[in-house]
Amino acid sequence: MSFLDAREHGSKPGSGFVSSQQEAVDRRERLRRLALETIDLSKDPYFMRNHLGQYECRLCLTLHTNEGNYLAHTQGKRHQQNLAKRAARDAAEQPVAPAPQRRVAIKKTVRIGRPGYRVTKQFDADLGARGLLFQIEYPEIEEGTKPRHRVMSSYEQRKEPWSKEWQYLLFAAEPYEVIGFKIPSLEVDKHPEKLFTHWDPDNKVYSLQLPFKPPAAPGRPGLPAVPPPQQQLAPPPRF
Ligand SMILES: [Zn+2]
Repeated sequence: MSFLDAREHGSKPGSGFVSSQQEAVDRRERLRRLALETIDLSKDPYFMRNHLGQYECRLCLTLHTNEGNYLAHTQGKRHQQNLAKRAARDAAEQPVAPAPQRRVAIKKTVRIGRPGYRVTKQFDADLGARGLLFQIEYPEIEEGTKPRHRVMSSYEQRKEPWSKEWQYLLFAAEPYEVIGFKIPSLEVDKHPEKLFTHWDPDNKVYSLQLPFKPPAAPGRPGLPAVPPPQQQLAPPPRF
């Protein structure tokens, strides 16, 4: 309790403490409602409600107890600076011929955070081929839905500078956040026995085996190629 509060509590009943506190609450509430009426939080890409019922700013990674507090944060210096930085970076990353902006309908899903995941590196010694096995856990997946995945090329994504070395693998399932993995730009072996997905509805685990074609060994057919491709996994960027 602050000094001011302690003093106020020591005051006689009827001295105005209750009503002035009530006035402050009313004023805050009025401002909050006004902000909620004038600002549509569902259109704010950085506003997120987490599974604990708290609000998060995805831009600044800050936590807020209510919408009013979040809105106050969006008017603050830190958020404004981050917005400016993001805008500058987006402008710098804009491809030479920008793809037409498509308006995507915003689904009213309350996101509950990222799913758990496991990535296993695989190696086919006979072929000299590498692969990755992704297992994503979706224990709270929306009833009657299945997870999806897709590969996104480097120039399609807007989070990192373009590089032909990398592509991105995205997994989505409501109400989870979409997660993306940065994977090497190797050709995928689409043989159905090698490339497959599996959704286990009992354990709620989505698996994707992603095999890469073995790198070509120029002039020496039949021999497995060395060195192996570089494989690094970055923590999933937020999409
Ligand atoms: Zn912020």
